[in-house]
Amino acid sequence: MRCPFCKENRDKVVDSRSSDAGRVIRRRRQCLACKKRFTTYEKIGESFKLYVVKKDNARVPYDRDKIIAGLQKACYKRPVSAEQIQQIADRAEEEIFQNFDKEVSSAFIGESAMKHLRVVDKVAYIRFASVYRDFQDAGELIDEVSQVIQEAEHIGQPKLFDT
Ligand SMILES: [Zn+2]
Repeated sequence: MRCPFCKENRDKVVDSRSSDAGRVIRRRRQCLACKKRFTTYEKIGESFKLYVVKKDNARVPYDRDKIIAGLQKACYKRPVSAEQIQQIADRAEEEIFQNFDKEVSSAFIGESAMKHLRVVDKVAYIRFASVYRDFQDAGELIDEVSQVIQEAEHIGQPKLFDT
C-alpha cells in the first residue's frame, strides 16, 4: 500500500477490523519509512479475496453468510437475537482477518465462531461444536458438555438444559 505522505511502498498493518456487516475491512497501517499512520478500506469481493481451505483441501471463496447460517442453526429456539449473531460473526471475522489474508482453514473459522458463541449461549455452543468438531464418539461430546456444565455452575450461570 502506497503511503499517502511520503509515497513509500512499505507498510505494516497495525489493526484490522470489519465493518458494514463484514463487507468492508478497515486496516490501520503504519508506513515503515516515515512512521505515519493511515487507514485503508478494502471491500470483500473486490481487492480482497480470502479463500477457505476445507478439510478435503478444496478451496472456496470466503463467505460470511455461511458463518451466519451455521450460527442461526445452532441458535434455533435459543434466546440469541439476530443482532447477537451478527456480533458473534463480527468478532470471528476480526480474528480471521487479523490472522489471515489469503487463505484460512475452515477449522479456524469454526473454532473462532464457536469460541465467541460459547460466551453468549452454552447450549447453542454445544450444538455448533457437535457439528463443527465432528466428535469422534459420544464420549468426547459428553466430556465437552460436562466441562461446559461445570463452568456454568462455577460462575453461577443458569443450568445448561431447561427442565
Ligand atoms: Zn510514509
